[in-house]
Amino acid sequence: MSASLKGRSVVVTGGSKGIGKGIACVFAQAGAKVAILARHEDQAKAAATEIGHGAIGLAADVTNGASLEKAFAAIGVIDVLCANAGIFPQAKLEEMSEAQWDETSDTNLKGTFLSVQKALPYLKKSDQGRVVLTSSITGPITGFPGWTHYGASKAGQLGFMRTACIELAKYGITINAVLPGNIMTEGFLGNGTDYVANMAKSVPLKRLGTVEDIGHAALYFASKEAGYVTGQTIVVDGGQVVPESIDALL
Ligand code: NAP
Repeated sequence: MSASLKGRSVVVTGGSKGIGKGIACVFAQAGAKVAILARHEDQAKAAATEIGHGAIGLAADVTNGASLEKAFAAIGVIDVLCANAGIFPQAKLEEMSEAQWDETSDTNLKGTFLSVQKALPYLKKSDQGRVVLTSSITGPITGFPGWTHYGASKAGQLGFMRTACIELAKYGITINAVLPGNIMTEGFLGNGTDYVANMAKSVPLKRLGTVEDIGHAALYFASKEAGYVTGQTIVVDGGQVVPESIDALL
């Protein structure tokens, strides 16, 4: 499967940390030419150096179309776009400000739209054009207090995907989404030690996910072998969405 990624040009938004860095690493190890985008250019470049295999790091803000256009023009060739950049600040519905709603929606949902739209001229030139979104179980399947805005943005990505799948099909481009459960990343650890400790207990496989767990799922969607799969999702969560109650986990 990974052989079909050799020499392919892969862009990973939000690739300087966490899941995006894991995705970038898995693709680089499969022989892909990886470009990492993040707002902090120094962190994108540092991650690229750490990953090796010729990976490069560039500055780009997914909420800003012009910023993405500049980065994509510098990369020049894009076979695979992993639209992964996202934020998950917590705010309860009753206290949430419009600014908090907008920041999450702009990054996660508008950022997905802009990343795909601005990458499209390049993807159309590829004979194996692929888009892989990083959504979440939160929103499409589950809920958690403090994440109405986040859940809406992550479910919104799937609504976007289902129509984009039809519009992109005429170019032979596929678009699919990975729905991670709870994955150990820099951002995830920001939820606090109690949250992290309790979350592992609700996972049938009794561990939190790794960034490589998500990277391998993204690699499948990007592969030649997945060429007839589009508009679909895969949940990578250690079985977390399955139990009917906590008794099922005893
Ligand atoms: P993370 O560790 O906080 O990393 C976020 C990455 O996104 C960083 O590289 C960050 O770099 C970049 N980023 C943030 N805002 C950006 C913007 N406006 N433009 C460009 N890049 C931006 O987060 P993570 O946990 O890896 O999450 C990554 C994705 O997975 C998100 O879409 C998230 O919703 C999803 N997810 C995560 C989990 C989990 O358990 N961790 C579960 C389900 C889904 P800069 O700050 O330099 O821009």
